[in-house]
Amino acid sequence: MIDHGLEQPIGILGGTFDPVHVGHLRLAIEALERLGLAHVRLIPLNNPNHRTSPMVEAQRRLQMLQKSIDHAQLIVDPRELEREGVSYTIDTLVTLRADFANHPLCLLLGADAFKGLCGWHRWEELLDYCHLVVVNRPGSNSDFEPRLQQLLERVQIADPDILRCVPCGRILFLSIPLLPISSTDVRARIADGRSISYLVPPSVHQSILQNEYYKSPK
Ligand code: ATP
Ligand code: MG
Repeated sequence: MIDHGLEQPIGILGGTFDPVHVGHLRLAIEALERLGLAHVRLIPLNNPNHRTSPMVEAQRRLQMLQKSIDHAQLIVDPRELEREGVSYTIDTLVTLRADFANHPLCLLLGADAFKGLCGWHRWEELLDYCHLVVVNRPGSNSDFEPRLQQLLERVQIADPDILRCVPCGRILFLSIPLLPISSTDVRARIADGRSISYLVPPSVHQSILQNEYYKSPK
């Protein structure tokens, strides 16, 4: 195995976080512990490419995320909010690679997000900067399109230790406890006047109530 004298891998969890929920936070913790990551950077996106605009504006989503963290190895990273225009993951990875030149980078993705990978801007270059760690997600199967199947045939690994030996370029499937929670479902419950207790951290719940986020459909 190649040993580049690398430091501990760093996890990256990008998302809309509209709002952050315990599914996101447990994903970060599971990856941290299972892969021996130095830390996980949670990176809220500013302007999405693939989806309708978030309901809550970026700075407020960032604040909710910051308040939700109570773990020294989970770090909120606002770098996408400091850039104008669409938040392309490839641009974020270029800056992360510059900041953490000697660490393997592990981009954490739910299977639903991985399925759409070929639609991402410059998707074929992503693995030049990071590994992909794909976690199972309720409601998403592993029925991947041919381009992804071919990619997996080339770079999928079964041994997580390989992630720490090379800086980028591999894909690992990590099985974590399933939590059937999504921001879409949280928003729908609020709009319906139902409770979201225990689906989001208490501080996030409080911010949502105080600011009356998500009460009316946009
Ligand atoms: P929305 O319903 O608005 O799309 P979401 O719950 O899917 O929100 P995102 O911000 O879109 O949250 O997700 C960020 C990343 O976290 C994605 O890679 C997604 O697959 C992953 N993720 C979100 N929720 C879960 C969950 N419950 N289990 C596993 N992965 C998750
Ligand atoms: Mg999503």
